[in-house]
Amino acid sequence: MFYPIPDHDYEYELNKDLNFSAAHHIPDARAGKCERVHGHTYHVNITIAGDVLDDLGFLVNFSALKKLIMDAFDHRLLNDHEAFRDIPPTSETLAKVIYDMVDEYITAEQPNKLECLQIILKETPTSYVVYRPKGRK
Ligand SMILES: [Zn+2]
Repeated sequence: MFYPIPDHDYEYELNKDLNFSAAHHIPDARAGKCERVHGHTYHVNITIAGDVLDDLGFLVNFSALKKLIMDAFDHRLLNDHEAFRDIPPTSETLAKVIYDMVDEYITAEQPNKLECLQIILKETPTSYVVYRPKGRK
């Protein structure tokens, strides 16, 4: 699948797709049937860009990226995650939480000045959210 990508001048752009299964609920009557606990197979696309590869020739390690997301969310109730203590786990909020996790990871673990350009989160086959940070680095 090809994804909408913001303009950038980086030499390398990496896209990682992954899927995880999780339950959630939106604890408010305005959410309709989504107030009840139910599950999704979430599809995530992570876009990371940069100019410098590490000594193995990687921009970022695909499997480390996957582990980061899977360990946090796969086969869990998203509402239990600390990031959702004050706001429900919607597609929008989950996309932002994943962005923040990836941004923290690439900032802390990668010396080669990478940037996460966007997160695409697909909750069902017919609906997805794109999260892009404002004021990119
Ligand atoms: Zn749902």
